[in-house]
Amino acid sequence: MPLTPMKQILDEAKTIGYGVGAYNVNNMEQIQAILQAARETQSPVILQASKGALEYTSMVYIKHLMLAAVEENPEIPLAMHLDHGPNLGVCKQAIALGFTSVMIDGSIDYDVSDKKGKHPARTLEENIRVTKEVVDYAHSMGVSVEGELGTLGGIEDETVASEVLLTDPDEAVEFVERTGVDALALAIGTSHGAYKFKHEPTLAMDLIDEVRANVPNTALVMHGSSSVPSELVDVINQYGGKLDKTMGVPIPAIQEAVKRGITKINVDTDGRLACTGSIRKYLGEHPDVFDQRKYLGASRVAIYEVIKSKMIDFHTEGHAGDYKPLTLDDMKEFYAQGVAS
Ligand SMILES: [Zn+2]
Repeated sequence: MPLTPMKQILDEAKTIGYGVGAYNVNNMEQIQAILQAARETQSPVILQASKGALEYTSMVYIKHLMLAAVEENPEIPLAMHLDHGPNLGVCKQAIALGFTSVMIDGSIDYDVSDKKGKHPARTLEENIRVTKEVVDYAHSMGVSVEGELGTLGGIEDETVASEVLLTDPDEAVEFVERTGVDALALAIGTSHGAYKFKHEPTLAMDLIDEVRANVPNTALVMHGSSSVPSELVDVINQYGGKLDKTMGVPIPAIQEAVKRGITKINVDTDGRLACTGSIRKYLGEHPDVFDQRKYLGASRVAIYEVIKSKMIDFHTEGHAGDYKPLTLDDMKEFYAQGVAS
């Protein structure tokens, strides 16, 4: 099975009514862990690399690690997605590497930073211009595109917006019509990173309903959807870490969002927490070990457990065999026909 277009993965999820996790990856053990979970649960999966991940892996390593995942797991629909592409140049680089999907985050201007390194929000008009440019290029190559409307708080690699603006459902109509994006990231009150909320968050669930009604053919995406389970934070702190108490997005809130129309659920932090905790624990309990396969192997097990439970909770389980993947050539034809995405 070749790489699968992300649009197809999300269209299938929408038809049946489940969510697909989009998991950020940076190294081999993470990718192996996620694919083991996908294999065992027979779940379609989206592997995503941020600009930071591309830089960390010199791009070519992450590409080949993801392709290894496809080769080893031919029965699993898998999309390779660029997370928070800052501009057309980085999106083009990802497409040249073979990514089947890119996100252009036109909601904030990455080229401008304030003293704290935060980026200003773009106007709707600027966002549409930047996004449309990427859609035109990507669709000519058969590649799916995710855009973002509104801005999320928190930190995810260099993705730091200077203010948080919830998505405006009326703007969503204009944005989708004028850009032709396949998927739209909504700002509904989630934030990036481990330090999300002091208390249980209130997400703007009604906003999902409104956007869903306004742009019924566009996949909806929830960023910053890690749950930050206290047991993962506790392991880190028990073995010498120093993380503050914090809360993420509880699983029932994600399930509610999926019911209302979210199909792509971005998860980064929980994988990081599982990885860090398991390595701290392993080294704490085995101070004499210096074989990195031991502690990186422990991290692989911990990440696998966390991701597997998400695939079950998001109801992705059992849907890997539902459809035959389209090729990017199929998608090129689809986009060339000018069918509304
Ligand atoms: Zn994000």
